[in-house]
This record gives sequence, structure tokens and C-alpha cells, in this order.
Amino acid sequence: MKNTVVIGAGFGGLALAIRLQAAGIQTTLLEQRDKPGGRAYVYHDQGFTFDAGPTVITDPSALEELFVSAGKRLEDYVELLPVDPFYRLCWEDGKRFDYNNNQALLQQQIADFNPADVQGYARFLDYSRAVFKEGYLRLGATPFLQFSDMVKVSPQLMQLRAWENVWQAVSRFIQDDHLRQAFSFHSLLVGGNPFATSAIYTLIHALEREWGVWFPRGGTGALVNGMVKLFTDLGGKLELNTAVERIEVNQQKVTQVMARDGRIFAADAVASNADVVNTYKKLLGHDPHGKTKGEKLAGKRMSNSLFVLYFGLNAPHPQLAHHTICFGPRYKELVQEIFNGSTLPDDFSLYLHSPCATDPSLAPPGCGAFYVLTPVPHLGNAPLDWRVEGPALRERIFDYLERRYMPNLRQQLVTHRIFTPDDFQHTLGAHLGSAFSLEPLLTQSAWFRPHNRDEHLQNLYLVGAGTHPGAGIPGVIGSAKATARLMLEDLA
Ligand SMILES: Cc1cc2nc3c(=O)[nH]c(=O)nc-3n(C[C@H](O)[C@H](O)[C@H](O)COP(=O)(O)OP(=O)(O)OC[C@H]3O[C@@H](n4cnc5c(N)ncnc54)[C@H](O)[C@@H]3O)c2cc1C
Repeated sequence: MKNTVVIGAGFGGLALAIRLQAAGIQTTLLEQRDKPGGRAYVYHDQGFTFDAGPTVITDPSALEELFVSAGKRLEDYVELLPVDPFYRLCWEDGKRFDYNNNQALLQQQIADFNPADVQGYARFLDYSRAVFKEGYLRLGATPFLQFSDMVKVSPQLMQLRAWENVWQAVSRFIQDDHLRQAFSFHSLLVGGNPFATSAIYTLIHALEREWGVWFPRGGTGALVNGMVKLFTDLGGKLELNTAVERIEVNQQKVTQVMARDGRIFAADAVASNADVVNTYKKLLGHDPHGKTKGEKLAGKRMSNSLFVLYFGLNAPHPQLAHHTICFGPRYKELVQEIFNGSTLPDDFSLYLHSPCATDPSLAPPGCGAFYVLTPVPHLGNAPLDWRVEGPALRERIFDYLERRYMPNLRQQLVTHRIFTPDDFQHTLGAHLGSAFSLEPLLTQSAWFRPHNRDEHLQNLYLVGAGTHPGAGIPGVIGSAKATARLMLEDLA
């Protein structure tokens, strides 16, 4: 029986491990932390459950297909609950937009902002659907290994004006500035600057309209646990607290991996779900190809980082929707400072997570579990001392939330913790503390992104946010499908 090692139990690593194990390849999943999930780690604290990362679950069909590929049904492992509205968007001038799948409600709200944009939105939705068909349904789980793969899809990409950025594409259809923000912010959810990322990322809008927004009962961690159970039910082996230090190479083939505790795991093939830059720079830094590639990747543009603040209150705040985007006073200027600036901006925009709106079991009775995050520059652009900046930013955000969204927040505070760019770097091993790996620019996407199979080491593969198609749960689940296909062909 062939055997493989997957390094890292994020969504990408887990999905790949499931596909390999289901295909009869003995698979060992090595995770450095004490729990699986990667960015989707979970904190349990005084009766509160805090999902550390992803909370907006889109494209349930990709998850269903993953379970079916293993002969199982998703619903036997985890229950997905619909979220409505998908998001509530709020601005400082008091304007508000509840974004969901109800066309009539959407049109009515758009008309309240600007009647002319009702028609514009209809055309934008058509465009977004065309991009979704090409960019997600057709190419989302297709590995780009040769430049010719890129050339083949170029006419379609040109037709869809992929050279434009998200903001430009949205602005071709929609005039109102608030609505332009409402239909362009999505790329930020996967680390893409709407003023630089390809218009291909407008597909997220059609994807959400197609399948809705969901939340697992018990939190995103329940989905991780369901995937782990599926993997181990199939006979796969998960080793937690196992940091891989080195991938051994012999004659252009990887042979085994060595953990920090000295254990050796031999494998016919190895896939890394660890940070893509550090996979080459650190785990393969002793190999000439690994060293060169690590240096090359370290020169690429990385996505922004995030500052995340988890907090539990002894009050539920039912006035909040499950997902709220709190736009600050500036949009374009703020985004540019986050992606290119060398310091922390004075203002912020926030994403506020209130999961008890969908599943009250995540907090003790009468209480509420929350997190709020704000995008911040990564450590390469802004090498800040987060031991100082973190607590100060926490206080600024608490002040802001208390003033505008959550009265009496401080009096109700039971527990809180923060996760800063330093934690992305040290706890998750993320290069420069980036929250989403390589920035999803057109010049760093598809064939231009690190490939699902290494071009030099024949049995080394990548999976997760740093490879094709990119970050976000649907992205990394798609990457696992693309990588599994290659591995199963190669191991056959
Ligand atoms: C705060 C936050 C909110 C987000 N919200 C959403 C959302 O709502 N919806 C959405 O779709 N996406 C969201 N995303 C993006 C999404 O979470 C990520 O793109 C995705 O989860 C990344 O998965 P991955 O497979 O690349 O692995 P990761 O989650 O990055 O996991 C990689 C794993 O590898 C492990 N590892 C690293 N090095 C080693 C080593 N040497 N040895 C062993 N193990 C190692 C790490 O510990 C980690 O567990 C969010 C991200 C963040 C940070």
C-alpha cells in the first residue's frame, strides 16, 4: 500500500488527506498545533466557544462533494445552518444594507441608495455569474502546471476583462459609492485588495448568490471536527503536536519528513499545507532547489495581516446580525494603507462576528460570544511591536464598538483575547504574518501561483491558500481536489 504524508491540518490539508485516504492511500496528517483546523482553530473559554478564523461558509456543494468522494454524506457529520442576512453592511453616516439572496429586497435597498443602480446591479450580477462560471466552476479545481494551461484560458480571461481590478469592474455597473463598497469588499475576505486584485474575484458575489452563506451548528470548529472524523473513520492517522522541521530529498524526490521531536515519517509522496514560502525556505532550505525557490517566493507580494479580538459578554446583543461589516470613514485610502503602508492607520473598518445570532449554544445562556477583526499591514511592510500595538488597538476597537454597535460592552465583558500578526507568524508559521498567503494578484494567480505539484521535486505537492486557486475555504477545498487528482494519477 502506498503511503503519503500531509503537513498541516488546515482545511486544505484535511480535505486532501480525506481524498487520499478515501482512494486507498495510507495517509498521515502532521499538525504542529494541539488541535486541527489551522486558521480555523477554536478557543474554549469559560463556556464560550470562539472560532478563531473562517466564519462565512460558502459553497457547501464543495464540502458535500468532498464527503461524497469518500462515500459519506456531509449531513451525517455536520449540520449547516443558513445565515440571513448574509452580511449586514453599516456605514458611519447611519446607512445600512442587508445583503442576502432575496432579489426583491436587494433591489429595494439598492433603489433606496440610488434608483439608477437597480439596472446596474442586474448587469453586474450577470457579469459576476459569467466570471463565476469560468473562474470557479471551470478552473477552480484545475491545476495550472504548464504555461500553456494559462495561454489556453487567456481569451476567456480577456473577454471577462480580468486585467481590471474589482473596484473598476464594480464601478462600470454601479454608481453609488456605498454600493460600490458593498459589492467590492468581498475580495478582502480572501486577502485581496479590491483596488489591485483581478476582477475575477467579483465571482464571490455570484458564488454567494448561488449557494448562500452557511454556518455549522457548533461553529466552524464543528466542520473541522467532522472532517477529522471522516479522515480517521477512513483509517487516516492524525498526529497533533508534530511540527515538521525538514523534508528530506534524494535525487529530485522527497523521501521522508522529520519532525521537531526527531520522529521520521517515510512517504511515497509528501504534500505541504504549511505556509508556502516557509515550506521552501525552512522545510526545504537545505536543498538547492528549495533554497532558491524559497528566496524567490519570499520576494512575492504577500496578503495583508489581521488583528483579531475575541470576546465573551454576559449579554447577547440580539440587535446584531451574524456578520456585520462596519465600514470606517475611509475606504480606498484605508485599503491602500493596509496593503502598502508602513504603519497602522488611524482609522479602521471592522468585521464583527456574532455567531449566537445563528447558534446560541456558542455562549452560556444569556451571554454572547463575539469576535471582531480589522485588516492590518503585514510585518514586512509594518514591523510593529504588537505587544504594544495590540492592547492599544484592542482598546480603540472596544471604544468604537461600544459607541456605535454594542452599548455597555465593557461592563459586560467576561473574557477576551487577541491574535496579532505576530501570532500569524509564530503560531501558524505564516511568512511575514500574512493572514491569506500570497496576495491574489493576476500576476500571482493560476499558473503564476506556486503550482499544486512542484516542478522539480517529482513527488512534492502543495495544498492550501498558497497554491492554486487561493485562500478562503472554497479555494483551499478546490486546491485539495486539484492536488489530489495529481497525486492519485502519479501514485497509480
Ligand atoms: C481571521 C480569519 C478569518 C477568515 N474568514 C474566512 C471566512 O469567513 N470564510 C472563508 O472562506 N475564509 C476565511 N478566511 C480564510 C481561510 O480561513 C483560509 O484561507 C483557509 O482556512 C486556509 O486554509 P489552509 O488549508 O491554507 O491552511 P491553514 O489554515 O493555513 O493551516 C495550515 C496548517 O499547517 C500547520 N503547519 C504550518 N507549518 C507546519 C509544520 N512545519 N509542521 C506541521 N504543521 C504545520 C499550521 O499549524 C496550520 O494548522 C479567514 C482567515 C482568517 C485568518
